[in-house]
Amino acid sequence: TERSDYFTPQANVDAAANAQAALMLYLAETQKTDSLPTFGEPLSLFSSAKMVLDSVTLAALEITRPAAEGGRSLAQTIDETVTPMGRRLLRDWLSQPSRDAATLEGRHNAVESLVNGAELADCLRTLLKPMRDLERLSTKTALGLAMPRDLVAIREVLLQLPELRHRLIKSPCKALAAIGGKIDPLIELTALLQEALEDQAPGTFRDGGIFKSSFHPQIAEYRGLSQDAKGTIAAMEERERTRTGISSLKIKFNRVFGYTIEITNSYLAKVPSDYTRKQTISTGERFITEELKSFEEKVISADHRLKTIEESLLLETRRKVAELTPILSTNARLIAEIDILQGFACTARERGYQRPRFNTQSLLAIEDGRHPVVEALLPVGQFVPNSIRLCPETSRTIIITGPNMGGKSTIMRQVALTCVLAQAGSFVPAARADLPILDAIFTRIGSSDDLARGRSTFMVEMTEVARILKTATPQSLILIDEIGRGTSTYDGLSLAWSLLEHLHNVVRAKTLFATHFHEITALEMALPGVKNANVLVEKWKDEVVFLYKLGPGICNRSYGIEVAKLAGLPSEVLVWARDIQGLLETQSQRGNKARHTALEQHAKQMGFFDEGESSESLTPLDS
Ligand code: ATP
Repeated sequence: TERSDYFTPQANVDAAANAQAALMLYLAETQKTDSLPTFGEPLSLFSSAKMVLDSVTLAALEITRPAAEGGRSLAQTIDETVTPMGRRLLRDWLSQPSRDAATLEGRHNAVESLVNGAELADCLRTLLKPMRDLERLSTKTALGLAMPRDLVAIREVLLQLPELRHRLIKSPCKALAAIGGKIDPLIELTALLQEALEDQAPGTFRDGGIFKSSFHPQIAEYRGLSQDAKGTIAAMEERERTRTGISSLKIKFNRVFGYTIEITNSYLAKVPSDYTRKQTISTGERFITEELKSFEEKVISADHRLKTIEESLLLETRRKVAELTPILSTNARLIAEIDILQGFACTARERGYQRPRFNTQSLLAIEDGRHPVVEALLPVGQFVPNSIRLCPETSRTIIITGPNMGGKSTIMRQVALTCVLAQAGSFVPAARADLPILDAIFTRIGSSDDLARGRSTFMVEMTEVARILKTATPQSLILIDEIGRGTSTYDGLSLAWSLLEHLHNVVRAKTLFATHFHEITALEMALPGVKNANVLVEKWKDEVVFLYKLGPGICNRSYGIEVAKLAGLPSEVLVWARDIQGLLETQSQRGNKARHTALEQHAKQMGFFDEGESSESLTPLDS
């Protein structure tokens, strides 16, 4: 999709209308119902009010789904919602974060007020916890599919609403009070459902037992009849035992044969003449009498009438609920919002997240930030916090070098996830975060191929980069984690180099660029606003120790062989690798020098190199 399509919802209106019409036709054909739901106007997911996270980025950042089985997504990690509709909406908020400053201010105010007001937060949680999925239940009702138990579940949610509303509108936080004010507790409908429905209403309407006897005089009458039946049968059984002298005589009911008198084989001789044989069973015979037959007819017709009445009452009740679908849906949405906000507050309190601040100067500065998912998976206190500062003029692009396993990917993703959380309305895992409102995050992370669609690993990588270059703006954040590694070193390095220059000078987005091409770090000297950073390691004896600290400057050597040792490669492979490395390094030292000079020369020619600054070492991280 072209960039213009992302941000101009109008461009897609026709396509959306066609899709909506097709969907309506499909539903009309497949659902076979007269009561199809009505749809609102289609909303573009890529509206100017939302941060764009395309499918590649959503997957790479594991926003709602972990990349591998057994992994954890951001949503799973921070989810403290207690209702199904809250859980669902949270995934929407995380995958389509807001760009609207007022919306974000409201959400952050609400979270702050709940972090500071634990009493209200606990109360909301208690009220929300038993609520079933009002959104799904009301859709089911609108489609005429709701069963008695579903209507009871709707009633149970409605019963909590007056208290929920009351608690919220009393809150000094305007955002919470506003949500409370919009809740419509539907008092009349609640009263109707309360008067009408049995607490233990069944899952189907075949077996009756849906409505309270007090709700309708005929229900009371017919139910009385069938309840009396038990007593009548017991009395008849007793009387027949005395009359026939058969102490084991039993009156039984079965769906096929109805009521019968069961006599075991040993007593068959005593059966009176007014008994008519109906069925033979292994242990004896079953009989009926005129009296039993007329009783059965009375009971069965009462049962039948009861079911008919209950069924028509159910349809009527369901229709009354369905008429209020729009209000029920709005309530469901408000409940979901409250649930997410209380969940954010809960996460913030439990994990020490702080309120982010937004600025309009395009500054992205995170102090002592943590990766929300990695932190949660590590034992408490083991995650090493890191700070980073991306400033449009002085540190728009940060080139991150460091050994494999050093933490480059972690810090990059942590920056992106912090921005996603902040724009979803959550507090963030950092001591302090000053953030811009981003229009999009783009990622080029990891290598995977798409052979089914005829694209090699390198081709996938380049296609993604091409898309980023076309789509990103100065308000976007771009993460590039290794680029140009699927081809020859010079090809790869050249592409990575020119790509970085283009991102920095033309796209001007905030860019975190992790690379193993150390040559690229020379750009810090050539381009104002490019900074080098590296994840620190120490060598202890022959081992490499990861410090997981992001520091200024470049990582001046690779630790590939040491990391391979940690991974368990056989020592003879490692020893030979070290020998080869020694040879290659000596040979390439002269070549390296020549390359650096050539590249610097090129940068000067392009006019990016300020002579005055060339000899000074720029502060790598603008702190
Ligand atoms: P490669 O270049 O091989 O992709 P990398 O430098 O990107 O490696 P990461 O994948 O970010 O390394 O980190 C490797 C592991 O180090 C993580 O899975 C995590 O367990 C640990 N780690 C990373 N950062 C931190 C941190 N700040 N505190 C504690 N542990 C960390």
